[in-house]
Amino acid sequence: MRQLAPKLTYPVFLIDDLSELLSWIKEQPFSGIRILADENTAQFCVPKFHRKFADNEQFKIISGEHNKTLEACVPVWTWLGDTLTSRNHCLLNVGGGVVGDLGGFVAATFKRGVPFIQVPTTLLAMVDASVGGKVGIDFRHYKNQIGAFAHPKSVFIFPGFLETLPIRELRAGLAEIIKHHLIADKDAFFNLIETPEEEINLIQLIEHSIKTKASIVLQDEQEQSIRKVLNLGHTVGHALESYFLAHHPEQSLLHGEAVAVGIIAEAYLAYVMKLISPTELDNIVSLILRYFVIPVWQSFEDEDIIQLMYHDKKNKSHTILFVLLDGLGKARIDIPVEKWLIMESLRFAQSLRESEQ
Ligand code: NAD
Ligand code: ZN
Repeated sequence: MRQLAPKLTYPVFLIDDLSELLSWIKEQPFSGIRILADENTAQFCVPKFHRKFADNEQFKIISGEHNKTLEACVPVWTWLGDTLTSRNHCLLNVGGGVVGDLGGFVAATFKRGVPFIQVPTTLLAMVDASVGGKVGIDFRHYKNQIGAFAHPKSVFIFPGFLETLPIRELRAGLAEIIKHHLIADKDAFFNLIETPEEEINLIQLIEHSIKTKASIVLQDEQEQSIRKVLNLGHTVGHALESYFLAHHPEQSLLHGEAVAVGIIAEAYLAYVMKLISPTELDNIVSLILRYFVIPVWQSFEDEDIIQLMYHDKKNKSHTILFVLLDGLGKARIDIPVEKWLIMESLRFAQSLRESEQ
């Protein structure tokens, strides 16, 4: 059991056996545990604990971003209300970012807060969602509109969970890893370019991403300034994700996939503003296209996607503000970008749709 980000106020452990998590829990003053999962993590991940949990100890939500809603919280609160005998029970969120965000939000708000532990089971949740203390749900298709900053008691990363994760979900996690490299570590970015997919060392990438995220979060927990760099790719990414959730639920677009397209569009903005060179733009585009397919939307829908960007939490007084790269390995925050240029960046991303695939 190794602690990955010792300066955070809660421990983030990398473990190679889930018994280490159960032993840690035994040493805590919890009066019991409850497990929140979705149908996939209940099937593939919970059994890996090799411990039988009673029926009332576990609860399943339906998987998927379209279920990260207030409506999906209600049965979880009800279950906690029916089965918790004290506020000292700890909720284990065993799942990807959806279970972690929703479960963390439910725990943070139930009776003004019960303890919770994040047990991420997707690469994306291991490298990003489980660390940083943001919990929440989507509202009216707008991403993460309702939520809180709430720290888990701990985070346990067990890479063995990734054995059953579909390749598309695994690649979605790479989007946040690429984001961390782009904002903080140019050398790691070039290493990733040079590494074929089958030679990628996931454990190394998980450790690197958590360290990167922790060091940024520690400087600005409540996202007043520097923490905003973690939103690279997300102004466009969240708008695309919301757009597909609302209009094309049948053509699912994963959070990581939306961020990947967002990174391309926002790299294009940085290139037009002469913050990165044409070669740097090419490097970013070719790495992303190695792992992601650009989704289809129509040019007349660009306006709708831009309207969704006005709901981004980083904006001020009706101006869309971006995080833009400033060379590779560095980023600037709060950069206003005009609508016509945002449109152009969406068209640039779309132009890569057929030509390169
Ligand atoms: P997810 O939670 O939807 O999980 C992806 C899919 O994989 C689901 O169908 C799930 O059931 C399945 N799954 C999970 N683990 C599995 C396993 N080990 N084996 C087989 N199947 C498994 O998606 P995600 O990509 O993990 O998370 C995306 C969410 O995270 C988004 O809502 C995003 O907004 C949020 N997020 C939050 C933060 C934060 O700081 N709180 C940061 C980044 C992303
Ligand atoms: Zn993200």
